[in-house]
Amino acid sequence: ELILGIESSCDDTAAAVVAEDGTVLSSVIVSQAEIHNRYGGVFPELASRAHIDKVIPAIRMAIEDAGIRPADLHSIGVTRGPGLIGSLMVGVDTARGLADGWGLQVRGVNHLRGHLRSADLNERRVAYPAMILLVSGGHTFLARMESPERIEQIGSTRDDSVGEAYDKVARMLGLGYPGGPVIDRLAKTGTPRYPLPRPMLTQGFDFSFSGLKTAVRRLLEAEPDAKPEDVAASFVEACMDVLLAKAGSALRAYPSESLVVVGGVSASPQLRERAEQLCAGLGVRLSLPPLKWSTDNAAMIALASWDYVHAGADVDLAPVSTLSIERF
Ligand code: ATP
Ligand code: FE
Repeated sequence: ELILGIESSCDDTAAAVVAEDGTVLSSVIVSQAEIHNRYGGVFPELASRAHIDKVIPAIRMAIEDAGIRPADLHSIGVTRGPGLIGSLMVGVDTARGLADGWGLQVRGVNHLRGHLRSADLNERRVAYPAMILLVSGGHTFLARMESPERIEQIGSTRDDSVGEAYDKVARMLGLGYPGGPVIDRLAKTGTPRYPLPRPMLTQGFDFSFSGLKTAVRRLLEAEPDAKPEDVAASFVEACMDVLLAKAGSALRAYPSESLVVVGGVSASPQLRERAEQLCAGLGVRLSLPPLKWSTDNAAMIALASWDYVHAGADVDLAPVSTLSIERF
């Protein structure tokens, strides 16, 4: 049995076909990075218009790549939030129309539950109970996962997400959007010579990244000749210190079989390496999504949709801009 997943919550239009055991038959991602690059961030109006153009071709390609017909599908899963309402509406309306035409059920999927299931695509990597560190463009939090259905958030950012901090620092350095990959590459060639704050390092499981971002801005004002690679290296190290310290204390407070690191920033080689070290030291399994599925994709949405089928969860299709990981 197969589910067609559709994702349009932000700036990528994606469609994928995934089997109940997590095998990915096809995964198509149409990026809008070129469109948003010159604005240094996502331009919502342009994003929804691009989704309108791309969503049907992406779905057609996903079905073709999988070598199936719509009649082979069990159901459709579409991201209903969190994300940009105008973008979400394009995916949801398209899914509803196709489901009507094909006589299939359609479920509205929580994008964050999609990210967390990205670690089980094509291969089961998560052992339960698990600790989740979700680091994306819109979110940064720690959550305890008893099973794919039962999730409890234990801490989250009080202001910016870490991905947002990467994007804003990239913008200050004139590096374009998205900032994550460029900052990572630059950081590797620099020296972390600047002392930047590690906000809320020892205070519980909440995060704060807006002060760190401001500290980078002040540093650039005070030292206009600072080498961008050294600034990037200092920034990345500060982010990693905070993320890994919090993940470490969460794993100590809540004994877990695996640490699941997901969301766009989980593509960072620095984060992958530091998480590897942390887990090796604690004897915990590290569960990471394949690189190509760290950032937004529809395969993760289809796999999460299977959880909804198993849990008998709601099919609610109303687009929502915010949605907790704890909710279906
Ligand atoms: P959310 O999932 O919270 O709704 P989103 O869908 O916009 O937000 P993702 O696609 O999960 O976010 O992640 C995008 C973020 O990941 C961006 O902030 C981007 O800079 C960051 N990112 C992407 N690749 C890397 C990388 N290699 N290193 C660090 N950050 C990265
Ligand atoms: Fe995302």
